[in-house]
Amino acid sequence: MTTIAFIGLGNMGNPMAANLVRAGHVVRGFDLVAANLSAATANGVTVAADAAAAVEGAEVVITMLPAGKHVVAVWADIAPKAAKGTLFIDSSTIDVDSARKAHAIAASHGLLSIDAPVSGGTGGAAAGTLTFMAGGADEAFARAEPILEPMAGRIVHCGGDGAGQAAKICNNMILGISMIGVCEAFVLAEKLGLSHQALFDVASTSSGQCWSLTTYCPVPGPVPASPANRDYKPGFAAALMLKDLRLAQEAASASGAVTPMGAEAAQLYALFNAQGGADADFSGIVEFLRGRAG
Ligand code: NAD
Repeated sequence: MTTIAFIGLGNMGNPMAANLVRAGHVVRGFDLVAANLSAATANGVTVAADAAAAVEGAEVVITMLPAGKHVVAVWADIAPKAAKGTLFIDSSTIDVDSARKAHAIAASHGLLSIDAPVSGGTGGAAAGTLTFMAGGADEAFARAEPILEPMAGRIVHCGGDGAGQAAKICNNMILGISMIGVCEAFVLAEKLGLSHQALFDVASTSSGQCWSLTTYCPVPGPVPASPANRDYKPGFAAALMLKDLRLAQEAASASGAVTPMGAEAAQLYALFNAQGGADADFSGIVEFLRGRAG
């Protein structure tokens, strides 16, 4: 049993904290939103008066916050309150620079730290089957692994500080690009009089095969569990896909990587978001592409 402070109890943080409670840990939580604190209490989390109070005496601190600026500000606030050797884990999806800043804050206070963003969405958070992509020193990862386990289906140590965030944005850039590719193929098939099922049957067993097609098919029918069958209710919202594609573009410009398809995907998701798609599942971009036909 470990005493864990959990800061950021939103859509992801609350079910993740609930799985830590179920695994027998003592979880002290804090969030700025009162409704999230009530939900956490119902899940067995002890609510603290503020982030600093949650951290006092905790052996592990986990943050699950919206963006890099929140993580850096919260870590700078609470790191001085933590005992030396406390393990800090950030599971938010943030830019690599902020992740490295957060690691530096932790190191300057004698703390261990890993960046450990996740994929798997709110469903994976509730089921305890998230994939964690971790970046940080071997010692920090070794301590983090058993803590992450009750929330995880898979845990991958990707490298040093920031490597988890790097893996996350690279993966999601592939996902954004491949989803648009699959959607364009279905839209073209419609114009050519080819049925969705026929394209699926061919491409799912041919060289066009990919996760966006076979697991998350963006048109209703071929894959019954995909969001297309429930009017594109997320799933993974288009607003979050845009956030991740923008993080990838920021990282590409900062590092000098050439990613023209990633840039195009970010632009198309920005348009889809601006035209009302932000809360829809990201696979709903098929409707936006279809709607652009002359
Ligand atoms: P969310 O907005 O539901 O939760 C974030 C929480 O952080 C909110 O409840 C907010 O009140 C809280 N918060 C903000 N500033 C705070 C502060 N200073 N102190 C305490 N609490 C504070 O977002 P979410 O969907 O839970 O996502 C969290 C992170 O996980 C994001 O970085 C997101 O990109 C990433 N992520 C989300 C999903 C998903 O499907 N929702 C999947 C993978 C990764």
